[in-house]
Amino acid sequence: MIKKIRVFATCDIGKSLDLLRERGYEVEVYEHPEPPPKGLIVEKVKSGIDGLITTLRDKIDAEVFEAGKGSLRVVAQYAVGFDNINREEANRYRVPFTNTADVLTEATAEFAFFMIGALARKLWTAEQLIRDNKWGFWHPYLPFLGDEVTGKTIAIIGTGRIGLALIKKCAGFDMNILCYDPAYQNHSYVQAIQETNDLRHARGISHQKTWIKYVDLDQALASADYVSVHVPLLREGESPTPTFHLFNEQTLGKMKPTAYLVNTSRGPVIDEAALAKALRERWIAGAALDVYEKEPLPADSPLRDSAIEDRCRLYPHFASAAKITRLSIDPEKGMAGRCVQGLTDVLEGNYGGDITQMPYVVNKEAFRG
Ligand code: NAD
Repeated sequence: MIKKIRVFATCDIGKSLDLLRERGYEVEVYEHPEPPPKGLIVEKVKSGIDGLITTLRDKIDAEVFEAGKGSLRVVAQYAVGFDNINREEANRYRVPFTNTADVLTEATAEFAFFMIGALARKLWTAEQLIRDNKWGFWHPYLPFLGDEVTGKTIAIIGTGRIGLALIKKCAGFDMNILCYDPAYQNHSYVQAIQETNDLRHARGISHQKTWIKYVDLDQALASADYVSVHVPLLREGESPTPTFHLFNEQTLGKMKPTAYLVNTSRGPVIDEAALAKALRERWIAGAALDVYEKEPLPADSPLRDSAIEDRCRLYPHFASAAKITRLSIDPEKGMAGRCVQGLTDVLEGNYGGDITQMPYVVNKEAFRG
């Protein structure tokens, strides 16, 4: 009898798992909404599964790879970020892992833009007025005003896939754009945006001339009205330009007191204690966060301080949480489809079995040469 390919998913990722079952795979899914305990993942891997489907909630380290020695052939991560997977250990055990880049780019970028809007125009505080029945009058400036985005300057920290997608959206809102990325600079994209801006101005679509340019971090922080973060979480030793606590007391202190900070990347990129202090002491005007140093956000987090609630918007790691993006079984559209495609590429030996040619494998370096 031919042995069935066995897959364990640490989370239900919807109908795309049926595609695997239809192909004869034996698929087991952890049925609870919370993440499975690490011990259970290790146990499943030890039982000889061929493929493991993971989310950012699962710590995939040497213990897991050791448990899968000789049997685990692929880890398919349902996310673009993979800071929960120890890349060095994956390479040491020669286990390829895949991610779901690209299909969540636009959804995440648009959510970052909506967070900017919610923060700047005080959507939460404004709605609360009505819900608390405190909307007593229309007035030119009472009880508060928001800030426009049109004509303002945004700094995009990290000009990879999501950073570039947000640039495109901000350009449509007639914003000036400062770009910062020490590792990857897409000058032709920036030039194309400038040309589009110039055409919109020349044809009377935009009233003001707007600009876009690469600058260093200090310049970006000192000049921006909005700062939006789109970097991977890279700890000391993982990159020449680590991003862990990139935003700390020192860097927050360089922002304008009227500026807003938005983070849809990873929580540990911001030192939350420093941010809470910056908000309390009004070093900056506000912040909107989708990701946290510890998730879910602990009950005693300083970010929950009611003294800053009017200028601190908090969302539950929600930026990619749109229906097609999360659940489409089409690998060109959905994280679920792309996750399963990455898994089957490895397990079924697509691309002639050459892992370095498989588009969704991240750690190709372990299989070169
Ligand atoms: P990407 O790899 O395409 O882009 C990241 C960019 O950051 C790269 O260009 C890289 O050069 C740059 N970078 C690295 N170190 C830097 C530093 N020190 N300073 C400035 N820039 C630096 O990744 P992406 O697809 O754009 O995704 C970015 C991150 O967003 C992911 O790693 C993930 O953690 C996060 N994300 C979060 C959500 C969410 O739901 N909140 C959704 C998708 C992605």
